[in-house]
Amino acid sequence: MTAPLYGKMAVIGCGLIGASVILAARAAGAVGEVAVADASPQARERIAALGFADSVTADPAEAARDADLVLLAVPVMAMGEAARAVAPALKPGATVTDVGSVKGSVAQALAAALPDGCFVVPGHPIAGTEQSGPDAGFAELFQHRWVILTPQARTDAPYQAAVETLTEFWTALGSNVELMDERHHDLVLAVTSHLPHLIAYNIVGTAADLEGVTQGEVMKYSAGGFRDFTRIAASDPTMWRDVFLTNKDAVLEVLGRFTEDLQALSRAIRWGEGEKLFDLFSRTRQIRRGIIAAGQESAAPNFGRDVRSSLETADTKPQ
Ligand code: NAP
Repeated sequence: MTAPLYGKMAVIGCGLIGASVILAARAAGAVGEVAVADASPQARERIAALGFADSVTADPAEAARDADLVLLAVPVMAMGEAARAVAPALKPGATVTDVGSVKGSVAQALAAALPDGCFVVPGHPIAGTEQSGPDAGFAELFQHRWVILTPQARTDAPYQAAVETLTEFWTALGSNVELMDERHHDLVLAVTSHLPHLIAYNIVGTAADLEGVTQGEVMKYSAGGFRDFTRIAASDPTMWRDVFLTNKDAVLEVLGRFTEDLQALSRAIRWGEGEKLFDLFSRTRQIRRGIIAAGQESAAPNFGRDVRSSLETADTKPQ
C-alpha cells in the first residue's frame, strides 16, 4: 500500500478488538497516526507499554480530534455514550464506525449522537476470541474473516465514498466485506453467534449445578464435547450481557425455534426414531464440511486444537 487510507485513526476502547484493529492496520500500512482513548488507567498503562499507539488518553474527544477514522470498540451498550463523547471533537468529513456485535441498537445510538458533518458507517468484524483486553489483540485476527458493514440509507456520493474507503480499510486488514441491512445482520448473528453463546453459557451452568456429578468429573471428562462449550462460555460477561439485552427480539425469535427443534429431538430419542436422528446428524455434518470448505474453520482432527493453541499463544504476544 502506498499512502495510508486514513491519516489519523482514533480507537475508543482498546480491548481485544480495538488492539487487533490497530495492530492489523499498522501491519497493512492502512493508517498513519493512531490515537487511543481508554477509560481504565491499568489498560492505558498496558497500551503505552505495548507501544502500538502514538498517543493514549482517558478522553475520547482528545483522541478523536483531527481523526479521519474514529472506531468505537466498547461494549454495545456503551456505544451511545462513546459517540456522544467524541461528537464535539469530530472534524467535518470524518468517518465514524464501530465493531459492536449488535447493529440495530448501535446504528440508532450512533445516528442520534453524531453530527451531520460526519459519515456514520456501523460495522461488525465476525472475528474474535474468548480473551479480553489490549494484551489479547493480534494483527492476524481479521485475516480471511468477514466484516459486515451496515451503512445508513444515504445515497449521496460523499457518503458512498466513505463506505468504499472503509471497505478498502477492512480489505487491507485481510477481511472480506459484506454490506447488509442492520436488522438482517441482527437476525443472522442471532443464529450463528448469539444463540450458540447462550447455549454454551446454559450448558456449562447446567453441568456446574448438576447434582450427582462432581466439579472434578466435569473438568476431568470435559473432552467429550463439553470442553468446546466451555471455551465459548468463557467469553466476556459484559459484552455478552449487552448483546442479549440489545438483540432481544431476534434472539428470542431464534430461541423459540431452537426450543421447538429440541423438543422434536427429545421426542425422537424417546420414541427410538433412529432414522430421524441419523438424518439430522448427516445434514449437520455437511454444514460443518461447508464451513471448512469456506475457509472459516480447520479440518484438522480435534479441530486443530493442538496446532491452534500454540498459534494462539504466539499470536497473543504483543508485537
Ligand atoms: P474487551 O477486550 O473487553 O474490551 C472492551 C473495551 O471497552 C475496553 O477498552 C474497555 O475499557 C471498554 N469499556 C468497557 N466498558 C466500557 C464503558 N462502559 N464505557 C467505555 N468503555 C468501556 O472487549 P472486545 O472483545 O474488544 O469487545 C469490544 C466490542 O467488540 C464489543 O462491542 C463487542 O461486541 C465487539 N466484538 C467482540 C468480539 C469478540 O469476540 N470479543 C468479536 C466481534 C465484535 P477498560 O479498559 O476500561 O475495561
